[in-house]
Amino acid sequence: MDTLSLEEARARAQQLREEIDYHSYRYYALDEPEISDAAFDSLMRELQALERRWPEIVIPTSPTQRVGGFVLGEAFEPVTHAQRMYSLDNAMDLDELDAWLARTRQAAAELGVGSAGGEGAELAYVCELKIDGSSLALTYRDGELIRVATRGDGTTGENVTANARTVRDIPLRLRTALSGELEVRGEIYMPHASFERLNEAMHAEAEQSGKAPRLFANPRNAAAGSLRQKDPRVTASRDLATFMYALADNGAVPVQSQWELLEWLHGAGFHVNPTIARCSTEQEVHDFCVRAIEQRSALAYDIDGVVVKVDSFALQRALGFTAKAPRWAIAFKFPPEEKTTVLRSIVVQVGRTGVLTPVAEFDPVLVAGSTVARATLHNLDEVRRKDVRVGDTIIIRKAGDVIPEVLGAIGSLRPAGAELWDMPGECPSCGSPVFRDEDGVAYRCNSAECPAQRLERLSHWVSRGALDIDGLGPKIIEKLVESGLVTDVAGFYRLSAAQLAALETGEEKYVRAMPPERRELLGDWEKEPVLLGETVAAKIYEQIQASKTRPFARVLFGLGVRNVGKTVADTICRAFPSADALTAATEEDLTQIEGVGPVIARTVVQFFATPDNRRLVEDLKAAGLTLERRVGVAGVAGVGAASADGAATGEEPPQTLAGLTFVLTGSLERHTRDEAEEILRSLGAKASGSVSAKTSYVVAGPGAGSKLTKAQQLGVPILDEAALDHILATGEPPA
Ligand code: AMP
Repeated sequence: MDTLSLEEARARAQQLREEIDYHSYRYYALDEPEISDAAFDSLMRELQALERRWPEIVIPTSPTQRVGGFVLGEAFEPVTHAQRMYSLDNAMDLDELDAWLARTRQAAAELGVGSAGGEGAELAYVCELKIDGSSLALTYRDGELIRVATRGDGTTGENVTANARTVRDIPLRLRTALSGELEVRGEIYMPHASFERLNEAMHAEAEQSGKAPRLFANPRNAAAGSLRQKDPRVTASRDLATFMYALADNGAVPVQSQWELLEWLHGAGFHVNPTIARCSTEQEVHDFCVRAIEQRSALAYDIDGVVVKVDSFALQRALGFTAKAPRWAIAFKFPPEEKTTVLRSIVVQVGRTGVLTPVAEFDPVLVAGSTVARATLHNLDEVRRKDVRVGDTIIIRKAGDVIPEVLGAIGSLRPAGAELWDMPGECPSCGSPVFRDEDGVAYRCNSAECPAQRLERLSHWVSRGALDIDGLGPKIIEKLVESGLVTDVAGFYRLSAAQLAALETGEEKYVRAMPPERRELLGDWEKEPVLLGETVAAKIYEQIQASKTRPFARVLFGLGVRNVGKTVADTICRAFPSADALTAATEEDLTQIEGVGPVIARTVVQFFATPDNRRLVEDLKAAGLTLERRVGVAGVAGVGAASADGAATGEEPPQTLAGLTFVLTGSLERHTRDEAEEILRSLGAKASGSVSAKTSYVVAGPGAGSKLTKAQQLGVPILDEAALDHILATGEPPA
C-alpha cells in the first residue's frame, strides 16, 4: 500500500467504494448477496486502511463514514418539511375499504377515468404493506444524502441525519444520477429479531449493573427510540432497516405512477418492500388485503395494515388532499388481532375508591405489536359471564394500541378441576372485610386506612388529568408513603427538595464495577441503595410547586371524590366556584346543576362532610393550592388564541361554544386531549367521554375506534384535527 502515490490511493479508494456500495445494495436492498460476508469485510478493511493512511482522500459518502464525522446543525434540531408529510385516512374493515373504492371510482369517472378494460385512461391501484415504524424523509442533493428528518407533526420534524446515516440500507449516494434536490420518503423500522436481541441485551445489561431494565414495549417504539440516540454508534448497533415508497415531489423524477416510482426507487438503491401489487380491479385489492392479513404473522417485521394508493400520478393530483390526508390513498387497518394463552392467576387490585378489580395474569403473548401479560376483568360479573378460570386457555384481543381484552376461554381445553373464581372476602391489601355495593356490581374495601387505596389516591392526584406532577411515579410514591413522609395529598407540599433527594428509590447498585463472578461471591455485600439524587429531586420539587397553580376543577378532580370524573368536576366548579361554596352546598343545590344527578350529589356532600376530608382541604389551602375558580384558562399556555387571551386578561373568554358537546377520540398531534378539552370547556362547550345522539361533534384523530364508528352510525358530524385547531384558535363553532 505504501508504494501507492496519493492519486493512486484516491483512485483505488473510489473503486473500492463503488464495489462496496454495489454489494451493500445487493445485500440490503435486494437481499441477494453476490459475495461472502468475509469478502465484503475484506474490501471494507482495505478501504479503511487507505483512508487511514491518506486522510485527505476521505469523502462524506464513503461507506466508512456512516458513523461519525457528519454534522449538519444540531442533532434533533427542527426541520420544516417543504411539503407536508400527510397521514392517511383509515378503513377499519373491508366495508369501509369498499366505500373508499366506490368513492374513488366515482370521482375518477367524473374526471373521465374508467376502470381497466373500459374507455379512456385506466383506474388502477397499488397495494403496499403498511409498515408499523416511523416515517422518515431522506434528502439528497446532487445524488448525495445530505439530510434525514423525522415526520414529527407532519409540518416540522427533527433532524436525525447523523443517526440515520448509520442505517445500512439507506444509500449515502443514489445509484441513479440526479442533479438538484430529491426528497425520498418511507418508513424506518426494527425487525422482530433485532427487537428481541435488543431487549435481551438491555435485560442482561440491567442485570450487570443491578438496575431495573428499561425495555421497549414494541418494535415501533424501539425504532423511534434508536433513532433519537445522542450517540450515532448506539443507533448503528440497533439493526434498523427501511422501506421507501414515496417522494415529496413526484415531479422530481421521470415517472408517472406509484408503480413506476417504486421501480425507480428500487433502481436508485432504496430498499423497497417486495410485497406490492398493481391491481386493476377492486377484487384484486381485496385479495391483496386478505392475503396480507394471513401473511402478517410470518413477516420478519410489524405491519398494521395495507396502504392502497391510486396508481396514476395525474389522477392523484386531480383527487388531491383533505386537510389531513390524501384522497387518493387509504390505510386498510387490520382487524383486531386475537391470540390464545394460558391464564395463570386472577389477582385483585384495590382502586382509589376501594373498588376491587379482578385482573387476569397470563403467559406473555405478542398481540398487535406488543407483549401483554395482564388484562383487567373489570368485575366479578364479567369473570362469571366470560367464565374464565385459572388454568384455562383464554383468548386475548387487542385492536391497535387499545388496551388488551380477555374475550373468553376455550371450553374444550379447560383442565379438570378448574375452579370457579370468587372475590376474596377480605381486602388483599389491608385485610378489612369486603362489601358488595348497593348496585350489586362492585365489591369494595371501605377502610379509610387501606394502603392500596392510599397509594391509588396519591397516584391519581399526580396524574396528567389532575395535578399533573411529572416524575412522581408509583414507585416513588410508595417510598414516600413507606418512609412516612407523605400520608395524604397535602403531604406532597410539605416535602423539601433535600428530603426528596435522600429518598431511596428501592433499587440497588454495586458500589464498584466488577466482573459477574465476583458479584456472585460478594452477593449483597457490595450493594448500596440508589437514592433519588439532587437533580431528579429538584425537578420533582419544581413540578410539585408548579402544580399549585392548576385550576380548581383539576384540584377537585384530583381529590378523587367518588363519581366525580373530569367533566363532572368541571361542571360542579362552574356552579360552585370554590371549596368553601362546595362545602356549604346541599344535595338539592347540587342536583340543580345540569349533569349532576342524586348519586353524584350525595357522594360530593358526603365527601365534604367528612372531617378528614375537610382537614385535607384546609391543608391544601394552606399549602397554596388553587381552591377557587379563576376565570380564563391560565395554566394552559400556548394552546390557541382562546386560552392565551383568557390568561392575559384574566377574563373568561366568550362562551361561543355554549350548548355544544364534543367527544375527542384517537390521537391528536398538536394538543393533548386534556388541553384541547380544557380549552373547549373554557369556551362554554361540554367535553364528554362517550358518544350519544346528543353529541354535537366527534373529533377523530388517527387510531380512533369504536367512538368514531358510533358517531358514524348516529350521524354525528366528524371533525379532524385541523378543524379542531381552528376552533381552539378562533373560538368559532364549526361551520
Ligand atoms: P397513520 O399514522 O395511521 O395515519 O398512517 C399513516 C402512516 O403510515 C404514514 O405516515 C406512514 O408513516 C405509514 N406508512 C407505512 N407504510 C406505508 C406505505 N406503504 N405507504 C404510505 N404510508 C405508509
